[in-house]
Amino acid sequence: MNDNIYVTKPSLPPLDEYVEYLKEIWESKNLTNMGKFWQEFNRKLSEFLDVEYCMPLCNGHMALELTLQAFELSGEVITTPFTFASTTHAIVRNNLTPVFCDIRECDCTIDPDKIEELITDKTTAILPVHVYGMPCDMARIEEIARKNNLKVIYDSAHAFGEKIDGKSIAEFGDASMFSFHATKCFNSIEGGCIATNQKEIMYRVYQLHNFGILGKENVEYVGANAKMNELQAAMGLCNLGHYEEERNKREVLFNRYIQRIKEIKGIRILAYDTEHVTYNYSYMPIFVEEDKYGMSRNKLYDYLAKNHIYTRKYFYPIVPEFGCYENSDFKGDTSVAHRIAEQVLTLPIYADLPIEKVDLICDLLENAG
Ligand SMILES: *Cc1c(COP(=O)(O)O)cnc(C)c1O
Repeated sequence: MNDNIYVTKPSLPPLDEYVEYLKEIWESKNLTNMGKFWQEFNRKLSEFLDVEYCMPLCNGHMALELTLQAFELSGEVITTPFTFASTTHAIVRNNLTPVFCDIRECDCTIDPDKIEELITDKTTAILPVHVYGMPCDMARIEEIARKNNLKVIYDSAHAFGEKIDGKSIAEFGDASMFSFHATKCFNSIEGGCIATNQKEIMYRVYQLHNFGILGKENVEYVGANAKMNELQAAMGLCNLGHYEEERNKREVLFNRYIQRIKEIKGIRILAYDTEHVTYNYSYMPIFVEEDKYGMSRNKLYDYLAKNHIYTRKYFYPIVPEFGCYENSDFKGDTSVAHRIAEQVLTLPIYADLPIEKVDLICDLLENAG
């Protein structure tokens, strides 16, 4: 009966694999606090992400929040309005002021041409997002940062496993955060990590993630509890072993989508650079240009839902339009982000999605407009 297709489905390893880990956890009664599997996951992640220092935490959001805290920033942080609530909340919860910089249409990432005009003497960092796994223009962002003495911390929640000309995306900027939430392309149920080449920052996040406790009798920082437990680490270890195979399955689906959607008038896709970027293919965003397509994004969303295809308006609304930020005095023009948020729809894509369903979805897209 359940023919519904959702935008994503979590990846799960074969149950037997996970049970092997569970048996060991049951025997050791070691459930959390940087245990054996946490340590092993930590090692394997650093290898996989090809980064000097890397540490798993309870979720991506806390990884970001504590990374911002570790840099001891003050004042204003330039960021994107076209992201998940977490990015901005992490700034605000650190008593910093977000300054929204508009995005560019070709890839929905922060527009480097518009960053410099937003820099004031209060600006201390830039927090861009590799949205949908589209790498930001890191060369230009980091050049601006260097010139103005700013930190660059990437929200890489969507970009796990990606490479640019063979170089891991985790190696860029001062630090990067990845999310291993169940809906992401790689999951540890809930989870996330920070990656950095700066030892002091890694060490500070390590201290902050366990209440800022330094020694038995010394609590040095106002930290939080952001520890990843052993059951999460075990899931991460299992799923890491299947990452490539799952990614390759998504690549096939993605290519079919692109091939078919290219032929549909009024539906725009992002500018992918497969020559230089190894994508993880975890999102399939399309942009509905109503005047050319003949149907609005919202009507298309309803039409697909009627046909059991559950897409998402991801991201809509943009962050400055959230109820919680309604009364905030945010600076900056975010009109491109606003327009794109009215056009976007993310289509189902996950490793186990049958390719026939991709064709079915594309048939519906052809017929609806
Ligand atoms: C998922 C996500 C986060 C937060 O990660 P969690 O692991 O869910 O806490 C942050 N930023 C973006 C862009 C995300 O998509």
